[in-house]
Amino acid sequence: MTHDLVIRGGTLATAEKTFRADVGIQGERISELGTGLQGKRVIDASGKLVLPGGVDSHCHIEQLSSMGVMTADDFYSATVSAAHGGTTTVIPFCAQHRADNLQTVLKDYHERARAKAVIDYGFHLIIANPDEPTLREHLPEAIRSGVRSFKIFMTYERTRLHDEQILDVMAAARKHGALVMVHAENHGMISWLAGRMVKQGNKLVDCPILIVHVSTNDGIEAIRQARARGLKVLGETCPQYLFLTAKDIDIGMQGALFCCSPPPRDEAAQEACWRGLKDGTLHVYSSDHAPYGLQGKLPKGDKTTFKEMANGVPGLELRLPLLFTYGVGAGRISLPEFVNLTATRHAQTYGIYPRKGTIAVGADADLAIWDPEKSVVVEQTRDQTGYTPYKGRKLKGWPVTVLSRGAVIVEDGRLSAERGRGKFLAREASDALRPLGRDVPEVAQLKAWETPLEL
Ligand SMILES: [Zn+2]
Repeated sequence: MTHDLVIRGGTLATAEKTFRADVGIQGERISELGTGLQGKRVIDASGKLVLPGGVDSHCHIEQLSSMGVMTADDFYSATVSAAHGGTTTVIPFCAQHRADNLQTVLKDYHERARAKAVIDYGFHLIIANPDEPTLREHLPEAIRSGVRSFKIFMTYERTRLHDEQILDVMAAARKHGALVMVHAENHGMISWLAGRMVKQGNKLVDCPILIVHVSTNDGIEAIRQARARGLKVLGETCPQYLFLTAKDIDIGMQGALFCCSPPPRDEAAQEACWRGLKDGTLHVYSSDHAPYGLQGKLPKGDKTTFKEMANGVPGLELRLPLLFTYGVGAGRISLPEFVNLTATRHAQTYGIYPRKGTIAVGADADLAIWDPEKSVVVEQTRDQTGYTPYKGRKLKGWPVTVLSRGAVIVEDGRLSAERGRGKFLAREASDALRPLGRDVPEVAQLKAWETPLEL
């Protein structure tokens, strides 16, 4: 059989193993893995790595912050930037503000993403107003449409929920099959969460949760202990907690550019994050891309106070290259672990596996061909923030060619993707929910979240 496209002679990696094979692609999907495959078009990948395209399950795109600041990236610039860094799927947030109708919010995000995204995308919902119509009608409807994860905040005046509201949302999530992501901000709150809400929440409503952007040893330890007690708590960390410290921010007003919450800590916290990734306490590694330009960061110039700065740093494009250099290149993690942390577990946790996040016959041909020897000194990324916290870093290993659903969208650093080609992904229930829901079949091979990967 002659495939539409063959990627020949590369070393493939999945979350389980690395192996040599050609990849045959027919239309948008992987049609065969083997040797000596024939294609109408052939991409030579000898000496290169062929990895699943990254899945970034935590990023903020074209989203109005609770303070009313618009992110610098829209769905075009953010997804272009992601593609250049080897990421082929994003799951950003649809943010409900207190006065918003959830249905209207969702419709609005769909319209904007549909017109601009160059890679596939799903959505999480940020719930700021879990009132009666939201809980009874709008949330179940959103879940049915494939938006199967909610984020709630335990902090920030304009978005935080009370305990009763948190339990309301968790109960709705449990009933209709959605994953709850918790912004628990700092170790005090994470400990509180692990010690109190996790206990209550799991016993009352039996609802797995994912704690986003964990950054401290105490926070990781609280999750580790909760998991040891059998609770379904997943942790997430981000590049800023592995590759930045408080010292990076301590540079005067320009430090505002590095300001994110929680903030980067110290070397000991970085080590704790690496350990957490290694032993599975931290389940996924996401960017938390929250792009604000100078206008959002320093709205009053040098007179801007800490409370007036938009929080967040860009990371969509460099998330994978950073982890490749400092993780795989430095021998801290293996290539399968890299794939698991950047793609596979995201796809499993958010219900798009095995369509996304792996290399297998039948899966979408979302692939990144990496040149492990290519050195890049970070200058500027392709997002619209106008800066990167990682400027000047020397990275080794880069995704030179990127495919999305069988189409080459980045080749030798050049974009060849049309605006609006990305498609919405209606997601299935999270694997974290599978053992709970009677209506959801148990799939043994998908329970990677339970055990750290042995290598
Ligand atoms: Zn975030």
